[in-house]
Amino acid sequence: MKPLAITIVGAGIVGAAAAYVLTRAGHRVTLLEARDAPGQLTSFANGAQLSYSYVEPLASPATLRKLPAMLLDRQSPLKLRLTGEWAQLSWGLRFLRACNPRQVHRATEALLRLSFASRDELAAACEADDLRFHHAVAGKLVVVDSPAALAAARRQVDCQRALGCEQHVLDTDACLDREPALAAYRAHVAGGVWTPGEAVGDAWLLTRELVDRVRAMGGTVRYQARVAALRTQGRRVTGLRLESGEELPAGDAVVLASGSDAPVLARPLGVKLPLYPVKGYSITLPVVDERLAPRVSVTDLRRKTVYAPLPGRLRIAGMAELVGPDLRVDPERIAQLLAAAHDTFPGACDASADPQPWSGLRPCTPTSLPVIGRTPVDNLLVDVGHGSLGLTLAMGSARLIERCLAGDDRPARHFAYAG
Ligand SMILES: Cc1cc2nc3c(=O)[nH]c(=O)nc-3n(C[C@H](O)[C@H](O)[C@H](O)COP(=O)(O)OP(=O)(O)OC[C@H]3O[C@@H](n4cnc5c(N)ncnc54)[C@H](O)[C@@H]3O)c2cc1C
Repeated sequence: MKPLAITIVGAGIVGAAAAYVLTRAGHRVTLLEARDAPGQLTSFANGAQLSYSYVEPLASPATLRKLPAMLLDRQSPLKLRLTGEWAQLSWGLRFLRACNPRQVHRATEALLRLSFASRDELAAACEADDLRFHHAVAGKLVVVDSPAALAAARRQVDCQRALGCEQHVLDTDACLDREPALAAYRAHVAGGVWTPGEAVGDAWLLTRELVDRVRAMGGTVRYQARVAALRTQGRRVTGLRLESGEELPAGDAVVLASGSDAPVLARPLGVKLPLYPVKGYSITLPVVDERLAPRVSVTDLRRKTVYAPLPGRLRIAGMAELVGPDLRVDPERIAQLLAAAHDTFPGACDASADPQPWSGLRPCTPTSLPVIGRTPVDNLLVDVGHGSLGLTLAMGSARLIERCLAGDDRPARHFAYAG
């Protein structure tokens, strides 16, 4: 195919992956980033999980059943603060409508296909370009605290087996054999699900690595280049106006990969992206006793908290707050994550160290399906809405964008813009 000039807006993990795949495919890429470095927003200190088999959408009948209790509990990982914005209300209504078994099955199937494609795409990139981002395929153990939760997990494993996932349901002893560091937490482990193929990796490092390779292959990367508006003529984007006033040509195509901020640029063109920021938190603690720290990635469903072993450190992440685009770090949430880490893996981490508190806004759609591909504006594509799975899905999403530009929209049909 003839090389195209492509402008990508946003150098988070999703935009960086798109820039990498498109540059490798021979296109001339310009990557524009508002900040002064790549991966400074939601892709900075996330849960570090390459969670290929845990893609079940948040909107489900099970979530709906638990919703009232979760919203009333002050310690709950879920928090809703009504902001009065139409965006929050309409997103919430669409979320509730998506809480049905048919939608859950449809979304799980589509997301698994995308996550497996992402895994293959990332493996190929690691091989071709020796990407260094603390990538380790150590497997993932999801633990639950009740027989009822274990039965529900077993049903999900049975359903996903037919979709190509290799997962094993374990009893308490088998969970502790898999991850001996959970010994002190035994009372809360009724069993779990072990998935050997799951991986961890540092999203920020991967973003940086991908952007470095784009530059090395001749792509253009510009920082402090916040796009203020897209200029159109008829049904085409012809240019981009930066906040500084500079005007840039659009090239043959523009790919919007600006995470939670994407609706700001898309809306004036009549492109309505169903995104709402869902806030989460992380802390990162130095490990002081390797024997007491997890070697595999662990998710505690009781607290909805993930633990990712990174070299010499433990990343702990969780919470889902619908509070608008507010990035302030709530000290109460950090205290909750610290307490979770010390209860679950006592003695593993340095309790007196700076926990590197962080918050990020997941760009979430009501169905958990990202929006990938063409829009009603001829040369405008979107790669947004990866919610809790941006690190996991970025590489496969980038390939879908590459296929759309090559004239084949079919692989992206489950993620197509619906208006
Ligand atoms: C607590 C937490 C834990 C998570 N854990 C995981 C996990 O374990 N595994 C996983 O797969 N995912 C995880 N996620 C989700 C994942 O982090 C996100 O899905 C992902 O980072 C989204 O990437 P993005 O590139 O779309 O957005 P971002 O990383 O936010 O990047 C968007 C970029 O666009 C730039 N930008 C915005 N507007 C403009 C503009 N007008 N002009 C130029 N640039 C612009 C921004 O500066 C930013 O750099 C987690 C998220 C959170 C909050």
